[in-house]
Amino acid sequence: MFNIPRGTRDFTTEEMHKRRYIEEVMRSTFQSFGYHEIKTPTFETLELFTAKSGQEIIEELYFFKDKGDRDLALRPELTAPVIRFYVDKLQMAPKPLKLFYFGNCYRYDRPQKGRYREFSQAGCELIGTDTAEAYAELIALAYRILQNSGVKTLILNIGNLNVLSSIFNQLKLSKKQQKYLIPLIDKSLFEDVLDALKDFGINSKEAENLVKILQTEDLQIIKDFLKDDSAKQELVALEKILNLLEKAFGIKNYKIQMRIVRGLDYYKGLVFEIEAPILGAEKQLCGGGAYDLISLFGGKDSSSAGFAIGFDRTIVALESENYKFPKTKMDAYIIPLNEELIETAINIVQEIRSEGFTADMDLLRRGIGKSLKYASSINAKNAVIIGPDEIKQDSVTIRDMDTGEQKLIKINNIINFLK
Ligand code: AMP
Repeated sequence: MFNIPRGTRDFTTEEMHKRRYIEEVMRSTFQSFGYHEIKTPTFETLELFTAKSGQEIIEELYFFKDKGDRDLALRPELTAPVIRFYVDKLQMAPKPLKLFYFGNCYRYDRPQKGRYREFSQAGCELIGTDTAEAYAELIALAYRILQNSGVKTLILNIGNLNVLSSIFNQLKLSKKQQKYLIPLIDKSLFEDVLDALKDFGINSKEAENLVKILQTEDLQIIKDFLKDDSAKQELVALEKILNLLEKAFGIKNYKIQMRIVRGLDYYKGLVFEIEAPILGAEKQLCGGGAYDLISLFGGKDSSSAGFAIGFDRTIVALESENYKFPKTKMDAYIIPLNEELIETAINIVQEIRSEGFTADMDLLRRGIGKSLKYASSINAKNAVIIGPDEIKQDSVTIRDMDTGEQKLIKINNIINFLK
């Protein structure tokens, strides 16, 4: 007996059917927004991930040496691989470049519901533009993908890291102090943030103001607090994005949340997250924003933004909301009643398949009773029964598996009948 590795899963045929169905909905939504699919390898050089996130990320990675003594890692996410690809081969492509992907990711996380060591992301990168309409469209795309997938209740939170940095700078917090605060802010542990600020010698009025800014949904309160002109400009840009999102893309139920941090040294400016509250602890379905990676990877500086949707969590959210996934359907199940009729059965099943229907036939030489039982277990719509009497009339009996109604149909009329 072998055990499946911790944090990984096998998927049954039913689960794969659900996953492929949702993947197709997501793929066609990406395509409808003008995005094109790409694919990168499952493993990359270890350095690709440490370059961005430092040595600390090694704790979260699956990494190994290959036989040529190279340090490699299974990818924990796809933004760094896509930007590596862009810098290497796609820099000359017309802008804006709109790329999307589906891919497995690997993280040495502590497994729980909605958190796995092998999981799948659906994501995209938008390269070469930083206009308000580009960012509004990016947020709208993430939201529409989850809506089109069928998730009913979604919460969209939008923040801005430059504003957060400028608030930190206004309070004269050192980089080290900021680094300490970020995980606390990320988890919304505001009491702990207050305690830490007190320890850093920040007076209680200013500390409370900071926590208020992190929690407020009112842009005016944030504006009044900011002293730095460039941070104020950043808020004006954010307002333009929100205005387009609301008035042009028709997405009104977002919340402004300056507490969104998403790893300050990678993202810059706009950040957003989408949650499915039904999921409880692991409720984040999507994270994204604008980021700086191209020049770090040796490319010519260009604006870039993107997002990643947790594919597995989207499925868990749909199941939790009792989403009715469409059932697999088999158009026809062919049952030859004796050995002499097997060739005719194969001809018929092939003809049906070549016309674009799904069809299967009995491969076990079972009797009619067992074959019909099997046909209903695979959700066949019709059973095509080929018996000696029918064949004498160049016909078959087609049984509607829902109603049980049977009809004698000429062989050359089967396709028309199925249509
Ligand atoms: P991140 O790259 O961390 O921003 O993750 C993007 C999305 O991937 C998250 O919002 C989650 O939905 C999903 N995700 C991240 N880590 C895991 C994991 N260990 N298991 C399942 N989904 C995950």
